[in-house]
Amino acid sequence: MPGFFIYQHHVKMKRCEIAPVRMSDIKRTHKMAMLVAGPCSAESEDQLMRTASLLMNSGVDYFRAGLWKPRTRPGNFEGVGEAGIEWMLRVKRETGLKIVTEVANRSHVENVLRAGFDAVWIGARTTANPFSVQEIADALRGSDVTVFIKNPVNPDIDLWIGAIERIRNAGITTVIAVHRGFSPFGSTKYRNMPVWRIAEELMEKMPETLLICDPSHIAGNKDLVQEVTERALSIGMGGLFVEAHWKPEEARSDRDQQITPAELNTLLKLICELPVKEPAISEPEELALLRGEIDCWDKKLLVTLRNRMNIASLIGEFKKRSNYQIVQNDRWNEVINARINDGMELGLSEGFLLRLFEQIHGESINFQKRIGE
Ligand code: PEP
Ligand code: MN
Repeated sequence: MPGFFIYQHHVKMKRCEIAPVRMSDIKRTHKMAMLVAGPCSAESEDQLMRTASLLMNSGVDYFRAGLWKPRTRPGNFEGVGEAGIEWMLRVKRETGLKIVTEVANRSHVENVLRAGFDAVWIGARTTANPFSVQEIADALRGSDVTVFIKNPVNPDIDLWIGAIERIRNAGITTVIAVHRGFSPFGSTKYRNMPVWRIAEELMEKMPETLLICDPSHIAGNKDLVQEVTERALSIGMGGLFVEAHWKPEEARSDRDQQITPAELNTLLKLICELPVKEPAISEPEELALLRGEIDCWDKKLLVTLRNRMNIASLIGEFKKRSNYQIVQNDRWNEVINARINDGMELGLSEGFLLRLFEQIHGESINFQKRIGE
């Protein structure tokens, strides 16, 4: 059996969970072009897989998790480092989500490029330091990863623009700015001051750069994530970079601000209901968004089918061990009738369901026969 593990089965996810939110609706009406979600830090393989398998049906484009996490003061959890690279690759393999982590120096960049990450992000403390940004830019030269650039911790728009320029000058074509607020003096309502004016200025000065919001690091508290999100979208930001954890109360960093995947779905539903800022997007943009979503669902279909075949192989092993026949007509009749009923309830046609499950069943038998060989 290939090293491909059936995670949904393992965590006993709800059997037939249907996508709660249509991202294309949100993306069309709010021009929300990008959704990044995942835990603050990679803590364990189990934590990443549980979180990612809950997020994979929410229209998430990139799954985020920090591997290297030097905290403001030493002595706290400092991230799992390189050990987490394999876990992230497994997320990519088994959920179809693209993966992104934070890089702060040349060695981080080399590690994640070698591993095949789809994107990297530059954190707020790093953006504030042009030496580090240039080192990262040099290490990225020649690659085609997407680069997310957080604003610097201090409210200096030129440092932010400078970082974007350094990365672009290294030949990176997809650069996305992330607004995560600025360190306050004293205590404030939010963990970081949004200073919305700076976000608006960035959109004016760099209209070619997509700007998205990290409501988690602005809010600092999960109860404030929604209002920050609404404000960001109302001024025209094009997406979200949000911290989500399957069990936020056990998170090893930024525990108070992480939301659950279910809370993210609720947030996305609310976004659907927000007044539409700019209703019309061009026809080609609309078509590209819808096709992007089809690509995404097709990938999930393939992952789902592969997981189903893995179960078929396990059944094949069982049948071989116990001397059962591979094809059992009673079971097949039961399966096909149930699938046709369930599928018709979802609005799919009988003929299609019959043909589809005949094909799937045929391939399952092939997998089981291979066990017998
Ligand atoms: C993070 O996204 O987990 C992070 C450390 O962000 P920032 O650099 O914005 O503080
Ligand atoms: Mn964090």
